[in-house]
Amino acid sequence: MRLLIIEDELRTADYLQQGLRENGYVVDCAHTGIDGLHMARQQAYDLVILDVNLPELDGWAVLQRLRAESATRIMMLTAHGRLSDRVKGLDLGADDYLLKPFEFPELLARIRSLLRRNDQQVQPSTLRVADLELDPGRHRAWRGSTRIDLTAKEFSLLHLLMRQSGEVLSRTQIISLVWDMNFDCDTNVVEVSIRRLRAKIDDPFEDKLIHTLRGVGYVLEARR
Ligand code: CA
Repeated sequence: MRLLIIEDELRTADYLQQGLRENGYVVDCAHTGIDGLHMARQQAYDLVILDVNLPELDGWAVLQRLRAESATRIMMLTAHGRLSDRVKGLDLGADDYLLKPFEFPELLARIRSLLRRNDQQVQPSTLRVADLELDPGRHRAWRGSTRIDLTAKEFSLLHLLMRQSGEVLSRTQIISLVWDMNFDCDTNVVEVSIRRLRAKIDDPFEDKLIHTLRGVGYVLEARR
């Protein structure tokens, strides 16, 4: 689950980022409305946590623009507690509205609730390439009738390769989409993970699906 925090107060942003990371989320941070909007357009986030008082472009404007373009969940996080502000936020399409100061357990509970709504909206459908099947709902894969158990990272990696089947993905793209964007850019981790994934979904089978393009990246596709 990848979250974006748009918050100009650095201490609050750091506190949020650290706390959410400790709870297993991948978290990116922007400190101005413009940067936040830009990042939200570059990358699909499961949830955007949006401050109202922001430099350059305020939270209301960011909310309006994001809402016009995507269905990403948006939680307003602000010291503006007046009823008229809360109503404005919800009218402009915010999915939730949390007042500062807040208690971290409440923030986490609200995030879980919003992300559950996401899950229900998007019916995960099974992906197929040749005889390889991936069931995102149950985190399982099969090749033919052989069930394959995957770790969480292997699952994310395979999910990405199958969604983009036939397209070459560079190591950098894979790092940014499967690992934290701020991950220390050691692309070796991609090679190691691809090798592990291959050992499960390709090595035991005759038809290989993951292909390496030297110096470019990887592609998953059926070649016969
Ligand atoms: Ca602020």
